[in-house]
Amino acid sequence: MTGIYAENSEGIFKKSVLEAASYASQISTDGVTAICIGSPNDGEADKLAKYGITKLIIVEGLTAFDAQNYGKAIAASLTGIKTLIMANTYEGKALAPRIAVLMNASLATNVVALPDTSNGFVVKRGVFSGKGFAHVQLSRDNKIVAITPNSIELKENQVSIAVEKATVSEAGNLTKITASNKAAGKIPLTEAEIVVSAGRGMKGPENWGMVEELASLLGAATACSKPVSDMEWRPHSEHVGQTGITIKPNLYIAIGISGAIQHLAGVSSSKVIVVINKDPEAPFFKAADYGIVGDAFEVLPQLIAAAKAAQN
Ligand SMILES: Cc1cc2nc3c(=O)[nH]c(=O)nc-3n(C[C@H](O)[C@H](O)[C@H](O)COP(=O)(O)OP(=O)(O)OC[C@H]3O[C@@H](n4cnc5c(N)ncnc54)[C@H](O)[C@@H]3O)c2cc1C
Repeated sequence: MTGIYAENSEGIFKKSVLEAASYASQISTDGVTAICIGSPNDGEADKLAKYGITKLIIVEGLTAFDAQNYGKAIAASLTGIKTLIMANTYEGKALAPRIAVLMNASLATNVVALPDTSNGFVVKRGVFSGKGFAHVQLSRDNKIVAITPNSIELKENQVSIAVEKATVSEAGNLTKITASNKAAGKIPLTEAEIVVSAGRGMKGPENWGMVEELASLLGAATACSKPVSDMEWRPHSEHVGQTGITIKPNLYIAIGISGAIQHLAGVSSSKVIVVINKDPEAPFFKAADYGIVGDAFEVLPQLIAAAKAAQN
């Protein structure tokens, strides 16, 4: 039987959960069970049913996210589930190896395609910071597949869903979260479909107003190169690349970023890359789908005006 871990943010299932549901329902022949921790908002279970989830188990009793506690609770709810699909998000990355140990399962992370089941269960996963792909046979009975967000197309498969509740106790857990604060009003970088990113070419943090304005007009998240976050022009949570976050948005706009290999490692899987750089020899142009050779301080105001005109 196949299951998914349905990560929720304040009761809402993210798009990456629907991608996991689409993946699971395409490989399952006997329905898919979703496990979620904490109660989802009204109507959220129906979203899962639209993508083939036949049963939702809501696990109650845990306060806030802690990988050890969540991992134990999910593993305890997996009765009969041999293949577990989840998103390779921050939560997924922390949970997948823990659950794999508890399930004695084969584990593949960074998975970008449906499995080839013609001879076993072979998954395609991104390796070497997205520079290559490996095809990996998951040979154990129990399997965990963590899929890269934005890699799997949503596929509707309307079914009816049964909802069950289970309760776990926090007694015996090694940690207890007493408070957590969430950055408000921002689109999470790893889930953004559009990312506007800027580098040292922006000269200083005082010039980020333009980057943020363009991002807000496009409904995009903001990102930056490593030196920008090292110099504290922007928070480290925006640093993308080999030593930062790996993202795969539909559109990545890079402004005043040279395109060093370590930066590309985190963004080169983006579906469309637009580069704005005043140096026509900047290496980033080699990875770009569209390039604008120009001064960011002249190009950005024009892009912002065009985005405003398009909105009107
Ligand atoms: C082990 C290791 C790990 C690393 N990990 C990462 C990582 O994860 N992420 C990362 O980003 N880097 C990483 N780096 C650093 C990386 O090698 C580069 O130094 C860094 O990406 C460069 O940042 P940048 O492009 O913002 O700055 P720069 O290299 O200084 O480039 C600035 C660019 O802006 C352009 N420019 C300047 N003025 C303007 C203007 N007015 N308008 C338009 N364009 C302009 C310039 O032509 C230039 O191309 C790593 C390095 C090492 C050694």
